[in-house]
Amino acid sequence: MKRGLLKTEAVILNSHDFGESDRIISFYTRGHGRMSGIAKGARRSRKRFVGNLDVLSHITLIFFRSGKSDLVRVEDAALIEGFAGLKSGIERLSEACYLLELVSEMTAEGQAMPSVFEMLLEFIGMLDAGGETSVIMRAFEAKLLSVLGYRPCLDVCVACKKDYGQAERLFFSSEKGGAVCAGCAQGECGLIEITAGTARFLAAAERIEAAKLVRLKPAQAFLDESERLLYDFIRRQTGRELKTKKFIGKLRNFQAAGGR
Ligand SMILES: [Zn+2]
Repeated sequence: MKRGLLKTEAVILNSHDFGESDRIISFYTRGHGRMSGIAKGARRSRKRFVGNLDVLSHITLIFFRSGKSDLVRVEDAALIEGFAGLKSGIERLSEACYLLELVSEMTAEGQAMPSVFEMLLEFIGMLDAGGETSVIMRAFEAKLLSVLGYRPCLDVCVACKKDYGQAERLFFSSEKGGAVCAGCAQGECGLIEITAGTARFLAAAERIEAAKLVRLKPAQAFLDESERLLYDFIRRQTGRELKTKKFIGKLRNFQAAGGR
């Protein structure tokens, strides 16, 4: 692990006050993966970091790593993109924060994965630009799982490896990590019933370049089923509920009940 004064691009995943005047910040960086740092005096001297340490911000980060602690010292942060558009709406903001929590929960600290950094930045940018939220979210989940080595098997039945064709009844098993045909599903527990269209949509969303996602026009039912199965699968990997996902659920219930 490199030591000394270092520079990298970063997205801020989380930030909280520490002691009288400091902040502890969690970053996903291009060069060093996920890491945490302390910004000394960040709360006292606003002019030093002027809002550049806000959650979601894309920054150029200069930090010092002594090697004695996992926590680096934040020396400077210059804003590249603040995603101001996202911060004006609670729905998109909470979806963007869910992407941050996913990356935070699913990646290992100190393991550089530039592709995860690029993907996070690109997808936050798409949310900020006003793209179709549910397609963006499901594609990010599918792609992140794939990059991290948890790619779900969606083209064939994960158990018998046969093409499920136009089978009307299909299932998803988080335990087995893929689609399960009706024959193999017999006697199995914890399966989620899905349609073949959902499995095909997700397989396509995982493969297609992010910029071409607009070409996918999945039915709402495919999106709903995808959300359910992906979250079940993700929860199995993280071993716990994600706070932002619970918040999104509450927000939807509130809006469905007529609140705004
Ligand atoms: Zn099968």
